[in-house]
Amino acid sequence: MSLSSQAVLVTGGAGFIGSHLTDRLLADGVTVTVVDDCSNGDRRRVPDAADFLEADLTDPDALDGHLDDIDLVVHLAASKHVDTDRPHAQFDANTRMTRNILEAMADAGVTEIAYTSSSTVYGEAPRPTPEDYAPLEPISAYGASKLADEGLLSARAHSHDLTVWNFRFANVVGPRLRGAVIPDFIEKLQDDPEHLTILGDGRQEKSYLHVEDCLDAILHTIEHADDAMNTYNLGTRTTTSVDRIATIVAEELGVDPDREYTGGERGWTGDVPKMRLSIEKLSALGWEPRRSSDEAVRRATREIIDEL
Ligand code: NAD
Repeated sequence: MSLSSQAVLVTGGAGFIGSHLTDRLLADGVTVTVVDDCSNGDRRRVPDAADFLEADLTDPDALDGHLDDIDLVVHLAASKHVDTDRPHAQFDANTRMTRNILEAMADAGVTEIAYTSSSTVYGEAPRPTPEDYAPLEPISAYGASKLADEGLLSARAHSHDLTVWNFRFANVVGPRLRGAVIPDFIEKLQDDPEHLTILGDGRQEKSYLHVEDCLDAILHTIEHADDAMNTYNLGTRTTTSVDRIATIVAEELGVDPDREYTGGERGWTGDVPKMRLSIEKLSALGWEPRRSSDEAVRRATREIIDEL
């Protein structure tokens, strides 16, 4: 499906990835409506050229009257906030949003959706993990919410006229990223260049994808594949350790801190310490990431330092 001259609703479009997607779509001549409650997003990131609806998507009526002219929904809104005391709140919020969006789409006759799932649906799986790996055993409520959403989308795709592009993201990095390891290290080292506290043992080893590569992959896939329900891993073939990220951030800031490790192997409950996804399925469609994990981390570090 070609997106030019289409109307796209971007949920979570005031957030990190959604705001970059909105910029890219507008530059490509697409008509964009953004929906976001700004709980973790920033209204100022949404250009005036996009329509903006400030709404909480857990409210079943949030999209009433707003989908009539929409061709495609890209659903990025999600609570990423991990509350280990109340994990079900995050599960409830994310699955309720997806259910509400699907119902509103059905009411308005919208039949295309791209969904942003996560590597966390795999839990602790052998690497590189292919899309058909089983059993899917997420170890966090966030991962469980993504898996439940995938189930809802699959059910709707197989019983109604709905095309679903389901993307399981590795870690996405780039400008505007907040509340993640790179901006965390930058802020800590700007406060205290001599010392860095690292959550975990530093050997957590994951795949990092630059947001520009992520957007290329999403748009390429929507244009080149249109099965009723198809799932694609989205990442790089390489990984970067948390210790290596600390080194890259320190190099870019020109500091040489002592390191202190806290929290044991994984740092926080629910974190999968090693992650690398097989990207052969997207590769067969003609997409390749332009940057390795290390290159993505270094570039994002420079970009975030420039904007902080
Ligand atoms: P983000 O938090 O920057 O963006 C999500 C947006 O959703 C925010 O702007 C937030 O305000 C909005 N939102 C949250 N709850 C809402 C609600 N009830 N109603 C309306 N809006 C609401 O996150 P991101 O990093 O841009 O991630 C986008 C999507 O990609 C998410 O679904 C996330 O789970 C998924 N994902 C991201 C990564 C990553 O590395 N960034 C990895 C895997 C999956």
